[in-house]
Amino acid sequence: MNQSRSLTPEREEIKKIKCPAIESSKFLCDRNAEYLIEGTLYCGIHTWRLLHPVAEPRSITIEYPGTLPLALRKNRGNTTHWDRAKETKNMRETAYWLIHEARGDQKLHFNRATIHIHQWWCGKALDVSGLASASSALVDAFMDGPEPVIDDDGPEIVVTTSYGHTRVPHKNERRVTVTVTEIEEAP
Ligand SMILES: [Zn+2]
Repeated sequence: MNQSRSLTPEREEIKKIKCPAIESSKFLCDRNAEYLIEGTLYCGIHTWRLLHPVAEPRSITIEYPGTLPLALRKNRGNTTHWDRAKETKNMRETAYWLIHEARGDQKLHFNRATIHIHQWWCGKALDVSGLASASSALVDAFMDGPEPVIDDDGPEIVVTTSYGHTRVPHKNERRVTVTVTEIEEAP
């Protein structure tokens, strides 16, 4: 009888401890910590995450500075086929070197992937079809070179392509990012 009563205060104290896991860049989790892992108490959610780590999918992002060439947009104005061919070639080569830089020493070859194209715009944004047509040379560059990230951009390999846009306050922040993320095969 006496023994169980003396245990009560200790249990109360443990219940009040907050989970120290980092929830976001600003906040700690702060849920009640109830499970002990390697000397630290965590909440149920973070205990689960610590015991079942999920590997981040592999991905590569390139950032094309500024706006996409006028000649490659949907409304091409007074541009010729040769203007477009030249711009396409330039952009694909630029993107190839951006990929080269972004991957560093990593061997990145994805059998299946998703692609996200994001326009950081200021002034006037391209609509989705305009962005799709103007950015296709950036995507094509992921198939270039002796060690391409993807072998082909057909639906067998690129399962999803998505587009997004974010307004930025200054013209010099305009850019287009392309992220290719691996879809891991089911084991
Ligand atoms: Zn937690």
